Amino acid sequence: MLIIGAGINGIATFRDLAMQGVDVAIIDKGDYVSGASSASSHMIHGGVRYLENGEFRLVKESVEERNSLLKIAPHYVKPLKTTIPIYSTFSGVLSAPMRFLTHRQGAAQERGALLIKIGMMLYDSFSRDGGAVPRHEFLGRKASLRLLPRLNPGLKYTATYYDASMHDPERLALDVLADGLAAGAHARSANYIEAIGMDAAGVRLRNAVTGAEFSFEADIVVNTSGPWTDLTNTALGQTSTYMGGTKGSHIVLDNRELLAATGGREIFFEHKDGRIVLIFPLAGRVLIGTTDLEHDMTQPARCTEAEVDYFFDLVKHVFPDVAVDRSQIVFRFAGVRPLPRHDDEAPGFVSRDYRIESRPLGARPGTLLSLVGGKWTTFRALAEHLSGDILTLLGRTRVVSTAGLPIGGGRNFPATDAARRVWIAANGDEVGASRADQLLTRYGTRAVDVIDFITAEPDAALEHHADYSRREIEFLAATESVVHLTDLVLRRTSMAFRGELSLALLEELAGVLAPVLGWDSARRVLEVDLAVGVLSDLNGVDLSGVGEASASLA
Ligand SMILES: Cc1cc2nc3c(=O)[nH]c(=O)nc-3n(C[C@H](O)[C@H](O)[C@H](O)COP(=O)(O)OP(=O)(O)OC[C@H]3O[C@@H](n4cnc5c(N)ncnc54)[C@H](O)[C@@H]3O)c2cc1C
Repeated sequence: MLIIGAGINGIATFRDLAMQGVDVAIIDKGDYVSGASSASSHMIHGGVRYLENGEFRLVKESVEERNSLLKIAPHYVKPLKTTIPIYSTFSGVLSAPMRFLTHRQGAAQERGALLIKIGMMLYDSFSRDGGAVPRHEFLGRKASLRLLPRLNPGLKYTATYYDASMHDPERLALDVLADGLAAGAHARSANYIEAIGMDAAGVRLRNAVTGAEFSFEADIVVNTSGPWTDLTNTALGQTSTYMGGTKGSHIVLDNRELLAATGGREIFFEHKDGRIVLIFPLAGRVLIGTTDLEHDMTQPARCTEAEVDYFFDLVKHVFPDVAVDRSQIVFRFAGVRPLPRHDDEAPGFVSRDYRIESRPLGARPGTLLSLVGGKWTTFRALAEHLSGDILTLLGRTRVVSTAGLPIGGGRNFPATDAARRVWIAANGDEVGASRADQLLTRYGTRAVDVIDFITAEPDAALEHHADYSRREIEFLAATESVVHLTDLVLRRTSMAFRGELSLALLEELAGVLAPVLGWDSARRVLEVDLAVGVLSDLNGVDLSGVGEASASLA
């Protein structure tokens, strides 16, 4: 079996199949989790707003998966208190059922308190069995402003409910991948390998680093290339028009006033154009998103200046007296949702549910399965569904269920403060309690492997980022398929997301990676230049002085 595309859905399918003992390989044309899965709003959510589209199956599955992820991945998935400011009492009550009946969107209309109340009650009812998060709460204007005094005083009510957030989606996906690889030698993975065609010998693959091409023989090929699904099928000689993804962008702000104004909650609300947007405290920063725009998948997705203006406008709508400006943006990112093709629906109302398309491989006997859709939240259930179809094709039966099975560093994760203290006391002898605590937060209980590695030889904090050590970076390089410097700063760590990068730090990191990855001085220079270029082009991070970096390393 070959899985093309290592976003969260391909990776989760890989893990599920590997655990059933299926001979499976997964590849990605870029780094793992570098597509849509790295561009999300970081929410593990039931999708309260999908209720008005009548997507009850999806909401129920999402809420169940959310409750489960809080238990099986507690190191990265945490409960998230979410507050909706509401400015009217009745709006949307008529348009929502109409949308449900006709599957069409009328003019944008603000969702009123009654509609939101109905949604919250339904939402609570889906959560009933899990009991993983508290129930919703409605407050009037005065009580709302007492709790969140910077909110727009024009509001009438607030609704507060719980969902979940993931503070580090990339690391969560890497944990899912590691679980799959741990199942045995029958499960293999490679990043920077692109599927470029198909012939009688198999799927043609190209190594994106060396340019080498080869064929890979597989009876079943699964296309989980997210928003690129049609492009991948076309490359395989199997034209399809399944996808109609829309681009969404986010900015990350370093703004203490705004951070404080959120009161530690996600503020989720309807902007003037009817879009649901969010202001979200995360890792000491504030995440603001998102948009819903048509996109050409042959082009990279970028957060534009017009989108930044839109974000600033929405902050003004909710927190009118909190000043925001471009100098506070530490990171921007954009991605394309792998949505099904939509003709007459407004982008925000296209179904977020998934389906699986099947057809013969064509050039050789076998089956090509294409995944259409699939959110982050439902990855485990989706993978179980997709791998169930594959097991049927292979004439095999499931031997292990992934339901309730802890993920990576979520295994034996100390869930209470007392358990955490015990864990730290047991693992902090050599690195000290605060470092053990930091590593537990960063890697879950897989921190044990990191601690073993960093204590095996002398270690030192990085000169330009005291929260990381040289041995820790070497560990990531040696064990987590780092190919480029960008993989380390964007996906193995959250240094870029938090706005912690400097040119000096990039140079230092390249120096630490070089002996582990066999880079000579020219490659080091190249990697720093590449990282500076990517961060500037795709993430709006300006690390000026590129010439200096090249000169000092050369
Ligand atoms: C702006 C935005 C906000 C979102 N917010 C949320 C949220 O808060 N909660 C939530 O649950 N979901 C959210 N989502 C949805 C969620 O992120 C995606 O649906 C999910 O990550 C899709 O994962 P995937 O594995 O299917 O696709 P992807 O992550 O895109 O993975 C596909 C992979 O295929 C690779 N690939 C493509 N072509 C080839 C090829 N020819 N050969 C080899 N590899 C190839 C790509 O490099 C890519 O890594 C959001 C999405 C966006 C864009």
